[in-house]
Amino acid sequence: MKKILITGAAGFLGSHLCDRFIKEGYHVIAMDNLITGDLKNIEHLFKLKNFEFYNHDVSKFVHVPGDLDYILHFASPASPIDYLKIPIQTLKVGSLGTHNLLGLAKEKNARILIASTSEVYGDPLVHPQTEDYYGNVNTIGPRGVYDEAKRFQESITMAYHTYHKVETRIVRIFNTYGPRMRLNDGRVVPAFIGQALRGEDLTVFGDGSQTRSFCYVDDLIEGIYRLLFSDYVFPVNIGNPNEITIKDFAEEIIRLTGTDQKVIYKPLPVNDPLQRQPDISRAKEILGWEPKIDRSEGMKRTLEYFKSLSEEELYRSEHKDFSSYS
Ligand code: UDP
Repeated sequence: MKKILITGAAGFLGSHLCDRFIKEGYHVIAMDNLITGDLKNIEHLFKLKNFEFYNHDVSKFVHVPGDLDYILHFASPASPIDYLKIPIQTLKVGSLGTHNLLGLAKEKNARILIASTSEVYGDPLVHPQTEDYYGNVNTIGPRGVYDEAKRFQESITMAYHTYHKVETRIVRIFNTYGPRMRLNDGRVVPAFIGQALRGEDLTVFGDGSQTRSFCYVDDLIEGIYRLLFSDYVFPVNIGNPNEITIKDFAEEIIRLTGTDQKVIYKPLPVNDPLQRQPDISRAKEILGWEPKIDRSEGMKRTLEYFKSLSEEELYRSEHKDFSSYS
């Protein structure tokens, strides 16, 4: 049985990856330090013989006994309010964590796929974003801790490929949504749905003319799966090119949830990108991949998930006290 290590396994994407590789018959070694992840997302897997979990911070030395065939590095805070609260950990997991996992991949002769992001393009001056665009990132802005960690991550990954011949893959993930997003992580999909379900007004930042392009999680996981088993070492955008302004998106959520709340406007966060849309030509050509689930279907499934949460979860204002993490 092939063995795969998944970091960030208790998070949104990590937990869906665990499900996929269990379904494909792998032995899954899940790792997470649970800063932003939640064991609830993978609780259903603990009873399986081919699933094990380590509560570990991958910024520290990582060891896994025995053989290892694949590594997926998905550990990282991933929402702007998280990396404002835990900036150092965000930098460490993308840099030191990636270094540790590349070292492990080299030692075990394992193939490693790292989770990069559309944030490497910063506030993009090229639209839509192709993989060849170098980006427009403010190194010292509030998002810099995430963006630059991910840019370093890509760089060290390519260096391990070139100098140590490690088999590496790099996915650049655009805004993704679906079940198991953290309700209060500050990102726009859980923020708007949570507000609608609690009967609060929807908070649009800025004038709402900024755009995003939302990909349903199942599509993203399929793209990552194909990339891992391809022989392509350069970055590949995975996302849904269907672009929408945040203002229109808020109105879509109001219609979908049937709430009679209104939209209210709050200041735009510093360095909030004005536009974002993936060019997925490369993924189409190399992986034969494109998204299949449109936003109305994906949002319906996502809403079902959020509706299934308990009252306590719906009204919980703070996920965790981050102050004890080094
Ligand atoms: N946003 C918003 N209201 C919210 C949360 C987010 O208008 O309550 C906006 C945010 O300013 C950004 C977009 O929605 O323009 C997407 O934000 P998110 O944090 O989900 O992801 P980003 O793509 O910025 O990393």
